[in-house]
Order: sequence, then C-alpha cells, then structure tokens
Amino acid sequence: AGASRPARRRIRLGVMGGTFDPIHHGHLVAASEVASLFSLDEVVFVPTNQPWQKSDRPVTSAEDRYLMTVIATASNPRFSVSRVDIDRGGPTYTVDTLRDLRAERGGEVDFFFITGADALGQIFSWRDADELVEMAHFVGCTRPGHTLADPGLPLGKASLVEIPALAISSTACRERVRRGEPVWYLVPDGIVQYINKRALYQPAEEAT
Ligand code: ATP
Ligand code: MG
Repeated sequence: AGASRPARRRIRLGVMGGTFDPIHHGHLVAASEVASLFSLDEVVFVPTNQPWQKSDRPVTSAEDRYLMTVIATASNPRFSVSRVDIDRGGPTYTVDTLRDLRAERGGEVDFFFITGADALGQIFSWRDADELVEMAHFVGCTRPGHTLADPGLPLGKASLVEIPALAISSTACRERVRRGEPVWYLVPDGIVQYINKRALYQPAEEAT
C-alpha cells in the first residue's frame, strides 16, 4: 500500500469459448456486442478440444475448427484466437481455460467470459464453480429460443445481455450443409468456402 505507481490501465479481455463447429455470425455478433457494451480491448476466441458436453456426436477435428475460427475473426483487429484448450488436450474445462490465459497474460488483465444464456444456466454444474466466479466476470448472452434461467450467480459476478436476435446455431448450419441448403450469410464467406474445400458436414455414407 502507500505511494502508488502511475496506474497502467488494466486490459479488459473477453473470452469466448465454444466448439465453433462451425463458427457462425451468432458468435461474432455476440462477441462484438459484448465488446462494445463492456468496453473490451480484445476478445479471444478459444475453440474447445474434446467438447465433453457433446460426447453424443462426432465433432469436427480441432484443427479444422481452429482454422475456421481464425478465418472468421482475421479481419477484426480486436478479435484473436487461442489454442490453449486444443494444445492442453483432453476434455476442456472453463476453469483450465481461464487459468492458462491468466498465466499467459499476467495479472494486469480483467477477464470477461462470454457465454450463451443456455450455458450460463449450467454454470454451477461446471467443475470448480466457486473458483470460476473469482476468475472472471461472466456475461450470458440471450439467444432466441432459450429462456433466461436465473443462474443464481453472485451479484456483480455475472451479467445478462440481450444480443440482437440471431437464431443461428452451429447445429442448424451443419444440418443445412448436410441437406444441401445454403449457409451463405449465416457464416462468414470464408467459412462457406472452407466447409466446401474440406467437405465438412456431408451426409454420412450409406452403410451397404
Ligand atoms: P451447437 O449448435 O453445436 O451447440 P452453437 O451454435 O451453440 O453450437 P457453440 O460453439 O456451442 O455454438 O457456442 C459457443 C457459445 O456461443 C455458447 O456459449 C453459445 O451459447 C453461444 N452462442 C451460440 N450461438 C449464439 C447466438 N446465435 N447468439 C448468441 N450466442 C450464441
Ligand atoms: Mg451450443
């Protein structure tokens, strides 16, 4: 305590975790909107490694999902992508994501974990929930079709934010591709091209 050094302003860092299979304009609008509302300096998108909540379906390779996230965010100088979850390997837990980013970025950073309202509702079913709320401010985004359950988070540790209605989900994008329907304008142009180039989300071969 006592005489203070000239205070360097703390960095405000958004953290957007997701499977991003594929990344779509719902993710990008949510990140942009929260960045604006919370005066964030940067939003780092963190593709999960093995998404443990989605063990019911095969997930596209981490490298394809990582590259799509890079392609989709490349043009925004305040957006970046982190490999911490992919490089750590194994199932991804948010507490590990925040620990690794903290170790990487140092103490001068305030974290804002951006997540869908659907995911925020489950926050206390996450491992280490008590530690989590000490590590970041949580921002839950409303999304069409999901009601805002009161997640019972400690006051001042979480905010709920209304995102301009975007009824886009990765699930719907994958199903559209599988059915041969367009995903133009639901995902960035570069993602349409990447999906075609890598033949992602095609119908499974008929077992004969
Ligand atoms: P899936 O349909 O496979 O579950 P998804 O569209 O929910 O995919 P995720 O990668 O699971 O995408 O999402 C990452 C985060 O972004 C989650 O917290 C999710 O709630 C949030 N999110 C996804 N789509 C939107 C949207 N349209 N508006 C706001 N938030 C969204
Ligand atoms: Mg989801």
